[in-house]
Amino acid sequence: MNQALKIINQAKKEGRKALLETEAKTICAEYNIPVTKFNLAKSEKETATQADKIGYPIVLKIVSPDIIHKSDAGGVMVNLKNASEVVTGYRKIIENVTKYKSDAKVVGVLVQEMAPQSTEVIVGAVKDPQFGQTVMFGLGGIFVELLKDVNFRVAPLTADDAKEMITQLKAYPLLNGYRNTPPADIEALIGILCNTSRLVMDYPEIKELDLNPVMAYSNGVKTVDARIILE
Ligand code: ADP
Ligand code: MG
Repeated sequence: MNQALKIINQAKKEGRKALLETEAKTICAEYNIPVTKFNLAKSEKETATQADKIGYPIVLKIVSPDIIHKSDAGGVMVNLKNASEVVTGYRKIIENVTKYKSDAKVVGVLVQEMAPQSTEVIVGAVKDPQFGQTVMFGLGGIFVELLKDVNFRVAPLTADDAKEMITQLKAYPLLNGYRNTPPADIEALIGILCNTSRLVMDYPEIKELDLNPVMAYSNGVKTVDARIILE
């Protein structure tokens, strides 16, 4: 077992600082951080086979150590509804990425379940030079980028710390049920924050962690994208 240690050591050996989404999500899953079902495919045919296995709709994403922001490279295709759309999507992603960065090393294409739309939250961690591992929580999109409505706590977090990080957000009412949006599962959010804290405490060589976005449902949460950067 201990996938996290294996993956981190392998990346170090290869001199890679940014883990691939497959690697980051495997580590998250080991720490009970819920992630979308995913499988790496290396050909058009494999992509369609994996998609059939996971079930539609499907999301495809480029897996490349040279591409950190996948959508900037045209490397994300969402809501593919059948095998033929998946095959076209695979070709399109490879074409986009080649145009974006002709020498990008392509490991393959990540085939994953499409998480139903919901309130998007962001869970992050950064290693502060003074305070060490610090966990961050906020709502997605404009709440973080424009309003800077995020909360930080130095790890390790207790469940009470995590709860405060959530309930003290200005946008908390949006998580607590607003108009047509059912309340988010606060216990599951506390869980993801505590598990993230545990992960970065166990691996001090993690410099940055970014779960963005995480879908917050009324029953559970699901991490759609995960990035881990090593020192
Ligand atoms: P990046 O941040 O590297 O550009 P993401 O994996 O975050 O790539 O994908 C970009 C966007 O596509 C996400 O913010 C999300 O809105 C959507 N998306 C990606 N993967 C999924 C998925 N499995 N289910 C639903 N939406 C997804
Ligand atoms: Mg993302």
